Amino acid sequence: MQKRNTVLILAVFSILILITSQIIIIRGVWKQNDELLKLRYRTLSQEAVASMRGRPSVAYDTVSRLLDDYSSKKIKELREITDSAKLAEKKKDILTYVTVLLNKEQDFSDILSSYFEENGFEKNFNHIISINNLEFIDVDTFLIYGDRSFVNRRPGSRQKMPSALKETKSSILVNRQWIGGNNYIMNFEYSIDFSDKRRMILQEIAWTLTMSIFSILIVAILFLYTYRNLMEEKRLSNLKTDFINNMTHELKTPLATITVAGKTLEMEQIRADDSKILETAKLIGKQSVHLNQLINMILEISMWERTQFQLDKKKVDIEEVMNDIVSSFSAGCRDCASLSQKYCFNGVKADIDLVYFTTLINNLLSNAVKYSDKEPAIDIEGNAEDNNICIKIADNGIGINRTDQKHIFDKFYRASSGNIHKYKGLGLGLYYVKKIAVAHGGDVTVSSKPGKGSIFTITIPY
Ligand code: ADP
Repeated sequence: MQKRNTVLILAVFSILILITSQIIIIRGVWKQNDELLKLRYRTLSQEAVASMRGRPSVAYDTVSRLLDDYSSKKIKELREITDSAKLAEKKKDILTYVTVLLNKEQDFSDILSSYFEENGFEKNFNHIISINNLEFIDVDTFLIYGDRSFVNRRPGSRQKMPSALKETKSSILVNRQWIGGNNYIMNFEYSIDFSDKRRMILQEIAWTLTMSIFSILIVAILFLYTYRNLMEEKRLSNLKTDFINNMTHELKTPLATITVAGKTLEMEQIRADDSKILETAKLIGKQSVHLNQLINMILEISMWERTQFQLDKKKVDIEEVMNDIVSSFSAGCRDCASLSQKYCFNGVKADIDLVYFTTLINNLLSNAVKYSDKEPAIDIEGNAEDNNICIKIADNGIGINRTDQKHIFDKFYRASSGNIHKYKGLGLGLYYVKKIAVAHGGDVTVSSKPGKGSIFTITIPY
């Protein structure tokens, strides 16, 4: 049990390590693809800018013109403001206006978009324009916004930026440029941002992702399969051990009786009494028959394993056969149970091997008696329908729980209560029953409730 748990813990642990390492790999691949995507669009954008004959500012000609008029007007207003708070307010308004203007007249986006499309790449993106520096110049210079030290900042550099200018994680800087007119100079950055970037990267790494999920699935399935096999082997090995214990116990009982009987025969006072000798001889004979039956059963079953056993089928009246089997059983066990029979076979004749069929019914009847903790009452019902004969053997015994019901027809299986030697057995009776029913083209099923009894149903086609 301890070993099994250790194997399970180790296996689960290895699967967790595998999943974690796959997640790390995928994250790495994701990051790499993210960088590649940025690089690709940055290069493409630069190519697009270069194709404008080195004058990207032509894209902002309209802005230039509008700003020329706007700046000369605003300079006059700025000059008249003396209050510093009002001046700051005014500068803020100017910055907002220029930003809106730049964003509205962003012909650059159209140029980039068609360039991306021509090259077969994603053409839908958002643009971000951020002003680094804006100055209105007359006789005096009005610094509207910014700090020149940011102007030459390299993309991605660690230099601290004013919060308004912070690059977003997903944006790609395309161009930083100066434009200027009679009364102003301005430095601004144009970046693009793919809101659908996640989907684009997912598309690129789809194959890696699929392989990774696939490999995790394969490992998990292999693990489950191996674990199941391991458990099955363990179960079989337990069953075999139980079988050997039970068989030893079963064989020991008649052997011990025979040994004691032999010893008894050696005693003089016994040998002097003919009736005692006869009684002991009968006992030895009975125990030898029992021993022989046990050994035969084991031999027969091991023979079935190697060869398909042959049925010697004959057409027989099933009702007659059932009556015979039940009455000999009742006589054999000296009325050990109250047996009730209710048949409705309508004179059906079925093709069965009488010897094996008798063993099948006898095994079920003796189990019904054996696994009973009160006066056994057995109801036997039979009918013929849909070309099948159907026989139900119901008892009022100890019943079988759900888990055991799944295994009772397995070789050597004994329900947990059966393994304590209160109920003797080898776990072969029902295995035998199933084999015989199947060999006749039929089947056997069980329905049972612990404490309430069991019903075994045999169907055999006729
Ligand atoms: P054995 O009787 O030798 O143990 P079987 O193959 O006949 O082997 O039965 C397998 C197990 O099924 C038994 O150990 C017992 O626990 C359970 N079983 C079989 N028949 C009955 C029954 N009629 N009522 C309750 N339990 C039963």
